[in-house]
Amino acid sequence: MLSAATIAKISWLFCLVAYLALRGPRNWRARREPVRTSQRDFNELFVRAIATIGLGCLPLAYVLAGFPPFGNYHFFSPFAVVGTASFLAGLWAIYRAHKDLDWCFSYTLEIRQRHQLVTGGIYGYCRHPMYFGFLLWAIAQAMLLPNWIIGAAGLVGWAALYLVRVPREERMMIDAFGEQYRAYAARTARLIPGLV
Ligand code: SAH
Repeated sequence: MLSAATIAKISWLFCLVAYLALRGPRNWRARREPVRTSQRDFNELFVRAIATIGLGCLPLAYVLAGFPPFGNYHFFSPFAVVGTASFLAGLWAIYRAHKDLDWCFSYTLEIRQRHQLVTGGIYGYCRHPMYFGFLLWAIAQAMLLPNWIIGAAGLVGWAALYLVRVPREERMMIDAFGEQYRAYAARTARLIPGLV
């Protein structure tokens, strides 16, 4: 009989694989669309590295190899269910966002040749549904993997995206779409309608 802590680890791994399966082909398709402007500089690379390490590499090392061997705490069984639900909700938000952005998606900060401002679907509720999805992922990680360092790493990874990338992305969108983006921003939440 598997323990709740082991089930939680398997659940985290399952959600990671589901994420890779849903993002991989969509990223591939979008990359065929030529780019007009790009902000792939050191800052962007650094933020992406922090997010990838915090939300991907470190938790994967914990699940597969029990690294780091310190900072563990006692697993609270109900977190296996609540954490999985949070991760799945995050994946759903990311999936919806991919559907709505289609080839306008980019894993980095780029505007494509034929780029159009997407304001419908999940983007009618908030401007950054993918980053909202990553927040739910970070919360899920802190619940599913009972280690202080791994929990903190996910939240730091998400914070890097939210605090550094979002302002740059919004400036890039204003440069590309001007008043159209300002008007869109005025009527939508950044992350969570009614909150922030
Ligand atoms: N921040 C968004 C999208 C992340 S993907 C989210 O969290 O859902 C990043 C790319 O998406 C950016 O390079 C930009 O080109 C594109 N993008 C972001 N918002 C967009 C929008 N409303 N319409 C069209 N493209 C958008």
